[in-house]
Amino acid sequence: MIMGHYVTALIPYAYDSNRKIAPFWLFLLLPQLADFLMLAFVFMGYESISPENFFKVSFMNMQAEMHFSHDILPLALTAVIVSAIVGLLFKSKRLFFIALGLMLLHEVLDMLVGFKHFLSPNHTQAFGLGLYNTMPILGIAFETIFCILILSWYLRKRERLGYPLKTSAKIILWGTLVGTTIAMTLIAKVPLASLISLQLG
Ligand SMILES: [Zn+2]
Repeated sequence: MIMGHYVTALIPYAYDSNRKIAPFWLFLLLPQLADFLMLAFVFMGYESISPENFFKVSFMNMQAEMHFSHDILPLALTAVIVSAIVGLLFKSKRLFFIALGLMLLHEVLDMLVGFKHFLSPNHTQAFGLGLYNTMPILGIAFETIFCILILSWYLRKRERLGYPLKTSAKIILWGTLVGTTIAMTLIAKVPLASLISLQLG
């Protein structure tokens, strides 16, 4: 998942619109931390994504080796450590559980829509549906529905709590979270390079 991770930041934020528990950037960072770690590990050469050329990537042909950032046990350990640090820094037990929930939810969502993940780097049994490589359109459809459900819930919740969002903010949220996810279907099966040449040709 991509935007589906960001959308989960809205769940705790709906209850913390006046930023009493934590700043919003933290709620945005935590659900995506595993992917940011993956990018760092790819940069350092410990993990890999192929094809390396972005224009040659489609969801169908993308392969990712991400044992340290995404295998279940390393991710769970990272989630506990990061949540403990965050909870201590902001002196909030509640934030510890929110952080832990957001980080573990990343793994569950990735296994539903994304790649399969192993228990640990030593294990050969992978878990998950692996929809990106097998049925990317279905995977992206799941992600779109997930984004629509959470975003609609968030907007209703804000209204009920007396903090309704401006129309401009709503448009930005729908466009970024739902629009971008729908746009991903363009490269579900065909990489951008072929897509451009197809259109040009
Ligand atoms: Zn991920």
